[in-house]
Parts: sequence; C-alpha cells; structure tokens
Amino acid sequence: MLKTLSLAPIGVVHSCYKEKFGIPRQPGLAPASTGAIRLLPPYNLPDAVRGLEGNTHIWIQFVFHQCLRDEWKPTVRPPRLGGNERLGVFATRATFRPNPLGLSVVRLEGIACTGKEVLIHISGLDLVEGTPVLDIKPYIPYVDKVDDARSAFAPDAPVSHPVFWTPEGKAALNAYEQQHGAIESLIEQVLQQDPRPAYRHGKTDGKTYGIRLMQADVRFQIREGDKGVLTVWVVNV
Ligand code: SAM
Repeated sequence: MLKTLSLAPIGVVHSCYKEKFGIPRQPGLAPASTGAIRLLPPYNLPDAVRGLEGNTHIWIQFVFHQCLRDEWKPTVRPPRLGGNERLGVFATRATFRPNPLGLSVVRLEGIACTGKEVLIHISGLDLVEGTPVLDIKPYIPYVDKVDDARSAFAPDAPVSHPVFWTPEGKAALNAYEQQHGAIESLIEQVLQQDPRPAYRHGKTDGKTYGIRLMQADVRFQIREGDKGVLTVWVVNV
C-alpha cells in the first residue's frame, strides 16, 4: 500500500486576498475577487494549458500552506456551526486536516502566455496570496454538477449582511479607485459575509476591524441597523 506521496506545486496563486482574515469560506461567494495561478517551472509551458480556455470553470487542488501542523484532530469546530459544535474532520471543509489539501472551483477568466510566464486568470476564489497549487482540472458540468445533492450542515449560502459606507469611507474609496482601479464590489461582497470570528456573529462589539484586499487596508465596523439587523459600515479604505 502507498505509505507516503511526495508532491511538488505546479503553480502559485496571486490573489486579491493578502491575508487569511476576511477570505470567504468557499469560492464563488465574492465573484468580484480576482487572482491568477502562475505556473512554476518546468510546468510553465503553453502546451500544458492547451485547450483549458474552452472551460468556464476549473478545479484547483492546493495546499493550506498557512495551516500546516504536525498533529491533527479527528474532530473540528466549523465556523459555520458557530464554532461550538464538533464534527469529524472529514465531514467538513476545515483547513486543518491530516493532509492539508484544499479544493476550490473558480471561474476561468483567461490565460496569458508571455515568454516564460503562464498566467491563468481566475475569479471567485477563496485562496490567500502565495497558495501553492498542486493541480488544475477542468470543471465538467455533466459530472461535477449534482442536481439532487444536499448538505445537512451547510444547506444554504451564508447570511448576507447589508453594507454601508461612511462619508469618510466613500471618499477614501474614490481616492483608492482613482489610483488603483475598481474595488467597491469586492469590498462589499467580502464584508457581506461578516468576516469576524464565529463567536462574534450576530453581535455588535464597537470594534474596528481591518482586512487587506488588493492594495487597500479596509476598516469596518458592525453596527445595529433597523429592527436589530446587523449592518456593516466601511469606515476607511
Ligand atoms: N474551497 C476550499 C475547500 O473546501 O477545500 C477551501 C475552503 S477553506 C474553509 C477556505 C478558507 O481557507 C478561507 O476562508 C481562508 O481563510 C483559508 N485559506 C485560503 N487559502 C489558504 C492557504 N493557502 N492556507 C491556509 N488557509 C487558507
């Protein structure tokens, strides 16, 4: 029986997400998120991606390189369940697992081959800058899309919170966008998820949080809105 397997990355992710905090828990939740997989030598050959552009989406198999640990635990506390309930590690998409491997389906935006560089542009990702990529495969709808699939612990997309801008936040956004390009949709889609730790969800706390997205350091607060609905306020960019 195979005891160990040694794998080398075939590429590395360049992402709009510069740190783990704030990254949506699954791909597709922030369609405005963008990035690219840069193929590493000796895989950086146009031939290696020939025909890939015929697919709208790709699977990325990658390493949770910022969650490497020597030990593993048979149960984990998924943030999705508020961080209190335990499930078997193999019943979740937790980042800490016996083999630190992740799997994400993302939109393929295009492929650029220039000189010795092969860049696979993607969107809707949930990967941090520098993520090592082990493999890329086309998403094939007739096999990968399962119409009657259900998940008991994550039946629906997470709750989406309304996002508002303070006047200062809006001014900072305009200044950022004039210098670096569009970022408003990305900020709103990320903050709609309430990126705070699970135990803070559903509560206001008066704190200002920060997330690094593209070249921006986004500051936000969670406040109580009409009828107790929690709202996200962007206070600076
Ligand atoms: N879609 C993948 C899966 O199901 O295997 C990843 C799901 S995992 C719950 C997504 C989270 O992993 C993100 O919110 C981010 O915090 C974290 N993450 C992304 N890239 C990472 C990396 N390279 N190392 C460690 N954690 C990472």
